[in-house]
Amino acid sequence: MKNIQQIIESKKEKILELEKFLYNNPEIEMEEFRAKEKFTELLLSEGFDVDGDIEGLPTAFVAHKSSGEGPSIGIVAEYDALPGMGHACGHNLIGAIGFGAATALGELLEEYRGSVYLFGTPAEETGRGKPGLLAGGYFKKADIAMMVHPMNFSALASDLVNLEGYDVTFRGKASHAAAAPEGGINALDAAVSFYSAVGLLRQQMKDGSRVQMIITGGGSAVNVIPDRASLRVEIRHREIKYFRSLVEKILRVARSTAEAMGCTAEIEMFEPPICCMKNNNVLVGLFKKRLVEAGIGEFQEYVETGGCSDMGNVSQEVPAIHPWIRMVRPSSDAHTSDFLRDADAPLAIERMYKMACCLAGVGEEILKSPQLVEKIKEDFRSH
Ligand SMILES: [Zn+2]
Repeated sequence: MKNIQQIIESKKEKILELEKFLYNNPEIEMEEFRAKEKFTELLLSEGFDVDGDIEGLPTAFVAHKSSGEGPSIGIVAEYDALPGMGHACGHNLIGAIGFGAATALGELLEEYRGSVYLFGTPAEETGRGKPGLLAGGYFKKADIAMMVHPMNFSALASDLVNLEGYDVTFRGKASHAAAAPEGGINALDAAVSFYSAVGLLRQQMKDGSRVQMIITGGGSAVNVIPDRASLRVEIRHREIKYFRSLVEKILRVARSTAEAMGCTAEIEMFEPPICCMKNNNVLVGLFKKRLVEAGIGEFQEYVETGGCSDMGNVSQEVPAIHPWIRMVRPSSDAHTSDFLRDADAPLAIERMYKMACCLAGVGEEILKSPQLVEKIKEDFRSH
């Protein structure tokens, strides 16, 4: 039986082919048709079944290989690019790592009983892919879900905060601003008051809270009292309980401002809610061991990034990890042209193979010792 390194070695060409294809053909969220086609072609050649018929997500797929009853290992692939910036978040590497890890584990199924899933999750940048696959029940097929994200530092675990976004629309009554201002109800006044009230509220918010607001509409003619004004609000915090109370408070401010101004407020979520990351300690431990074996000894155990990913949503349903691994120069921040350049440079390619080995190594250990699944689930239930 070949070991993981040998298996990845034998698949290097295909892994690189996929990485180059994604890098050279960047597609933004929900337009990743060519990426999906490439994944499908390569996964079929590796003996995987590929289900590309995912409701509401034309660029998602779920690939699967099984050798019978046993642990079910889920690997997560991302492959969306940034508008106008190509793969400046390195999802070309995430996709190729996921493919490498899943297909390597696919070969191990000749020896162990179990299943391997590769979840093709599009639109990570807007957080629409994984929530859609979760809603379709696809992640229930896996006992665990793992991925690695390239970054300019390494950390085994991170916070990945909660996020919700709302459109708030105030409606009042239009009136001639010069001839009959008293006949109007100014929706823009409500919007401005809401904006200011949230600004004051920031003084009493817990550290790490983020509330960003923009005004998306504020009237169309200066000689008309605006009957409609709108804002877009995004709220973040890492602790779920506090986050919920913060969201409620802000929406209450919107409603009461409307009432005070004699307006109405319509409140609508404009994007799927994103959940904080629940790092599975057993999986983190298994991954750490593989990382050290791969010769990567420089990493933090945990970082607070303040960032978000829909992998957080997955981690609330399935035991999961989302380590960040340095694959670019330390000076190259994500979503910059430096990161874009580095995402296809020799260091990234070398670490891409290593990360495929590490993820597959964790999967191998679980396939070998199925009793680990219970331990992983115990940790999942405990926090
Ligand atoms: Zn990313």
